[in-house]
Amino acid sequence: MVTRFVKAEIEPHADAWDEAGSFPWALHEKACALGLFGFGIAETYGGVGFDDAFMRAATAEILGQWAPGGVISGIGARGIMVGLVDALGSEEMKTRALPDILSGRKGGALGITEPSGGSDVANLQTRARRDGDHYVINGSKTFITGGMLASHFVIAARTGGEGLGGISLFFVDADTPGFTRSAIERKMGWWCSDTATLYFDACRVPATRLMGEEHRGFLAVMNNFNYERLFMSAQMLGMARRCLDESIAYAQQRTTFGKPLIRHQVIRHKIADMSSRIDAMEALINQICWCINEGEMPVAEISKAKFFCSTALEFCANEAMQIFGGAGYLRGNPVERLYRETKVMAIGGGSAEIMRDLAVRQMGL
Ligand SMILES: Cc1cc2nc3c(=O)[nH]c(=O)nc-3n(C[C@H](O)[C@H](O)[C@H](O)COP(=O)(O)OP(=O)(O)OC[C@H]3O[C@@H](n4cnc5c(N)ncnc54)[C@H](O)[C@@H]3O)c2cc1C
Repeated sequence: MVTRFVKAEIEPHADAWDEAGSFPWALHEKACALGLFGFGIAETYGGVGFDDAFMRAATAEILGQWAPGGVISGIGARGIMVGLVDALGSEEMKTRALPDILSGRKGGALGITEPSGGSDVANLQTRARRDGDHYVINGSKTFITGGMLASHFVIAARTGGEGLGGISLFFVDADTPGFTRSAIERKMGWWCSDTATLYFDACRVPATRLMGEEHRGFLAVMNNFNYERLFMSAQMLGMARRCLDESIAYAQQRTTFGKPLIRHQVIRHKIADMSSRIDAMEALINQICWCINEGEMPVAEISKAKFFCSTALEFCANEAMQIFGGAGYLRGNPVERLYRETKVMAIGGGSAEIMRDLAVRQMGL
């Protein structure tokens, strides 16, 4: 169902939307009508009422294969905040906002990264000071996917002392006085997604907008990364598959030195190398999904998958470009777009360096 939807409603428009730098809002509603971002959330709040890691991963893989990264991140921005709202939000937040976000009527975004840095989450600088029955937020967030169009945000801010013990999460509506935003333009990839810098200037939110316990937001942010990283890993699997499929199709019809490219041993080896990495990505993701469905959250494997998949994807995109030769260098070729969209996968959602650190820490070292 998802494959049919993406191939019919997204893939044919990928280049036009990317060149235009945006896509129609109606796509949010069409994609959300399939329940793509409602896993693990009750139907009362607009979710699908069940969870399944394989289905989460399959969704991401299909999107990665057929949709431009700008659409995936644009519609998928809500996917990295709804779990937090569901787990920590008040009944009022859940009944008021989740159905709108999950149906695609409104957008949601997650603000963790700040101009001073994204990797060192424990050191974030945005402050929220308690003032009677409100919190007053001051600071800034940047690189926020979906941030220009979102109506609701989950924002991490410092309520206590330095370090990971002083961070809390807040639910902030876009029309709150003191909140403004500006667009980040001209990205390397993800052209049709909106990305924002958010500004909080004495932004007063009711104390009821605190999500979960005060000063306990860091752990929730870290837990929330697990599904984001699984989604990104599966998305990378889809992207790598597309690189391979496009390469095979092209190598079968392109002739050099009197025979199809696919008959040259060097090209055949590239196909084998890409295919073996794709098999490994798939096996790792399936193993993670199986563990999650068995009730575990394999944090070490997820962090390893995130950097393993980004390295494998970079390899596949590079080889695909090489197989296409000059044709791969032209805009409008999916391989050109995929090549541009690989780098962000090793940066966003936890960089490859931070993922390696986390994996080794999980080994008790
Ligand atoms: C297109 C895009 C969309 C994004 N969307 C969102 C979003 O929706 N919400 C959000 O909150 N954030 C978002 N981000 C931000 C993203 O999560 C951060 O860019 C990422 O976490 C890295 O933070 P940084 O860019 O500040 O790099 P820095 O933290 O400044 O790090 C710079 C480099 O140094 C490396 N490094 C840092 N510390 C160490 C260390 N201890 N050891 C070794 N190497 C280290 C990093 O890996 C990185 O390569 C997005 C980013 C991009 C590019």
